[in-house]
Amino acid sequence: MKIYNTLSRKLEEFKPIKKNEAGVYSCGPTVYWYQHIGNLRTYIFSDILRRVLEHNKFKVKQIMNVTDVGHLTSDADEGEDKMEKAAKKEGKKAKDIANYYLKIFKEDFKKLNIQSPTKWTKASEHIKEQIELIKKLEEKKFTYKTSDGIYFDTSKFPNYAKFAKLNIEKLEAGKRVEIREKKNKTDFALWKFSPKNEKRQQEWKSPWGIGFPGWHIECSAMSMKYLGENFDIHTGGEDHITIHHTNEIAQSEASTDKKFVNYWVHGAFLLSKGKKVSKSKGGLYTISELEELNYNPLDFRYLCLTTKYRVPLNFTLEALDSAKNSLEKIKNKIQELNDTSKGNIKKYQKEFLESINQDLNMPKALAVLQEVIKTNKLGGKEKLSLIKEFDKILALDLTKIKKEIIPKEIKELVKEREKARKKKKWELSDKLRNKINSLGYDVKDTKEGQKLKILK
Ligand code: AMP
Ligand code: ZN
Repeated sequence: MKIYNTLSRKLEEFKPIKKNEAGVYSCGPTVYWYQHIGNLRTYIFSDILRRVLEHNKFKVKQIMNVTDVGHLTSDADEGEDKMEKAAKKEGKKAKDIANYYLKIFKEDFKKLNIQSPTKWTKASEHIKEQIELIKKLEEKKFTYKTSDGIYFDTSKFPNYAKFAKLNIEKLEAGKRVEIREKKNKTDFALWKFSPKNEKRQQEWKSPWGIGFPGWHIECSAMSMKYLGENFDIHTGGEDHITIHHTNEIAQSEASTDKKFVNYWVHGAFLLSKGKKVSKSKGGLYTISELEELNYNPLDFRYLCLTTKYRVPLNFTLEALDSAKNSLEKIKNKIQELNDTSKGNIKKYQKEFLESINQDLNMPKALAVLQEVIKTNKLGGKEKLSLIKEFDKILALDLTKIKKEIIPKEIKELVKEREKARKKKKWELSDKLRNKINSLGYDVKDTKEGQKLKILK
């Protein structure tokens, strides 16, 4: 299978470190607030990646971090810790805040058919590993101390700018160039000291003083702990390329002298009215909000699959409506499939596999699905077996039918209509159909008799 690697800016054949295995680290949520559907687009993409790897017979070990400490409100290592800020605002313990939003996040995963990672790893439960990593960097002379923490000296890592193709000289006034006591504008905090006159909810002892780890070090420490110093794939949103992932590479490779990750795969943003939005700025719905508007979470999953993961997707309710209609149409057609066999499914299997293996081309995979539904070269039975196979990747519950209990009144009207049709009383039959329609159902006359359908 081929995948676009941010490291080389090229489409590359995926070659695992260990035969038939794939180690994947996916940057997870900062659990101080609800994840919006933009965040969730990124996790739908990593879920598809994982399903495609599994389809290609790789045994996947996926680690996802939960950032429950250390992510500051500003990328320049300033500002408040997002978790502590939320705890203060809501008058709760940081731990409770983290657990609450993580629970919601996991529920969203279920609703969207996103598989849970093999392991969730909380930053606050890996302080020891992060301290060890900082110690290693200190021994190798990559660190220095300021009045507010221990920093990584990016000038000592010659390839620092390479991954994101940064032009450091031109990095101008903006978030990350606040220098204060830093030696270089790109240096970043590995450990921050607790404020002198304030007791933080989450703080730990360290060789440098009481404090808490920086956000970037958590991902390096936890990914290397569970996947090894050099592992296969690291995923995240494209916003992480320039700072978070650049810093992860610098500190990991500086500490091990090894290549950190072989394939970096990034998902493009979900935009709101053409603009980037972050969780802190709001602007995008949550899944529960979409449910309140009567959408099924899988309508959103379908919408995500209509655009390639590397292409920004502009979110509108109109686009979601259209996704909902398409998915409904597909599901209705699947329900009407008959029980015949006549063709050869190999051609379609091949086309589907080629699509997903070409850098997760899901729009093309959906086109193959549509072709299968439409073609008269296949019987219903073959179509259904193909669709079930495809849905292992798409995960749109295509063959799951809502089992609604048909009211007795409707069943009786259908029976009456059957009798009328036998007696060729067409006018009565039509009247009964209208009545059935007015109650939210429809009947279709087939060779095997009347088929009842629920109207929406
Ligand atoms: P956070 O909880 O802010 O750390 O973000 C979690 C994940 O969502 C990260 O991988 C981000 O890159 C990603 N992300 C944030 N905003 C968006 C967006 N609008 N569209 C897609 N992904 C996003
Ligand atoms: Zn990360």
